[in-house]
Amino acid sequence: MPSVGELTAVYGNFMLGPHEGAGVCSVCFNFTDGYERCYACAHCEQRLDAMTPISYSVAREQLHHALASYKRLDGDVVHRLRAELSAVLWRFLVAHEACLARAAGVSGFALVTTVPSGDRARDEIHPLRRMVSELIGPTRDRHERLLERTTSDASPRHFSEQKFTARRALSSEAVLLIDDTWTTGATAQSAASALKSAGAGAVAAVVIGRHLNREWHENDRRLRGITGPYDWSRCARCAPARPPASSSGTHGPRSRPPEASGAHRLLL
Ligand SMILES: [Zn+2]
Ligand SMILES: [Zn+2]
Repeated sequence: MPSVGELTAVYGNFMLGPHEGAGVCSVCFNFTDGYERCYACAHCEQRLDAMTPISYSVAREQLHHALASYKRLDGDVVHRLRAELSAVLWRFLVAHEACLARAAGVSGFALVTTVPSGDRARDEIHPLRRMVSELIGPTRDRHERLLERTTSDASPRHFSEQKFTARRALSSEAVLLIDDTWTTGATAQSAASALKSAGAGAVAAVVIGRHLNREWHENDRRLRGITGPYDWSRCARCAPARPPASSSGTHGPRSRPPEASGAHRLLL
């Protein structure tokens, strides 16, 4: 039975922690040319009360490969990736779920759910839902399959109130929505819309990877400004704002969240 710390150790070498700061989107932590919101967030309906990405996921780099591969058909590599990504979520949520709740203006989340797969048939075996409902200690007792994909032909890149529907009525419960990747945010915002239409209270999302292309605008320079290794004791919501890559300004520490040492053990 490997520990969460053992399973996540290698991820600390390549995960890139988002921080607030000038030129960082206040919704999704995408890099902007000085704007408060990135283009995608400025042009998408906002239904989430807060979102925290665990890491940037850079196209064709290690985290992106893991997030693209864990959903494939079974095999030893896939099994290992699911355990590792479960451990990443576990370790992060132990330390920073409270930071996300604070950002969403609630004391905690009564329910946890995942964003359904775009394909209704594939959603029946969606591995992320299994990870959240069975493997991940901080989520398994609160998980409920609250959403399903409708037959609406809404494009994956565009917000739609019809894309998802809730499987039952909610009565103001705060919901933590988990997804693997954030690209434009349209999928997560559409999922939040369906939850709120069903009566949910605050809805906040945590995603493993905020997808980026290194070649886009200043992204390469901005990503190179994030020095490793990944700091599990800080998240995008509790870390001091990161100064521009060229500056060496220092910021005082904010209060430390609970330990993120990863001593918990995954039951595989
Ligand atoms: Zn954004
Ligand atoms: Zn935090």
